Amino acid sequence: MGEEGGRPMTEAEWLACGEPEPLLRLLQDRASQRKLRLFACACVADYIRVMGKEGTRMPAALAISEAYADGVVGREEWLRSTRLSFHFSPWKFEDVHQEARYAVEAAECVAESQEQQQQRECAFISCVFGNPFHPTVFASAWRTVDVAALAQVAYESRDFSALPILADALEDAGCTDRTILEHCRGPDPHVRGCWVLDLILGKQ
Ligand SMILES: [Zn+2]
Repeated sequence: MGEEGGRPMTEAEWLACGEPEPLLRLLQDRASQRKLRLFACACVADYIRVMGKEGTRMPAALAISEAYADGVVGREEWLRSTRLSFHFSPWKFEDVHQEARYAVEAAECVAESQEQQQQRECAFISCVFGNPFHPTVFASAWRTVDVAALAQVAYESRDFSALPILADALEDAGCTDRTILEHCRGPDPHVRGCWVLDLILGKQ
């Protein structure tokens, strides 16, 4: 568990926390490397967007980092791309917790309110990891053809605008879990690694 002042963070503190660091501390022992990497990727994608870096080599390198997180490309290719495209040293990527931390720091270099930046990062954490105090059990009956197809398209395209429709499809399949439905219909941004999509797609 993450620690606040030497004791484990409580759920109330988790929900109220507006800074990514304490949340990442709590997650680092329990989250998968894939999810931590995808969170780091979400921060870098945010950095690219805010800093207008779309025309650089960063988006292509980011795509490779996402593919590496999902085990689609190998370590050598991933290291080559990070060496070319990020200003952090590749060795720092050795440690995935450090990776997420450096991604946060890089994003915080952006000349805007640090508070806004941190709010977005906390929103990414909430999307990728959900509430670690209340892991959700996903009933296989909810994984209908429609639900699986909507989830797969959103994951592959990174276009998450259909998540409210996914919530409707889940309800049609009998899902009444408010945490799942509200996450799909809520105002917060979604990123690759979204905990609801991962549950549907069987990813961890
Ligand atoms: Zn999400």
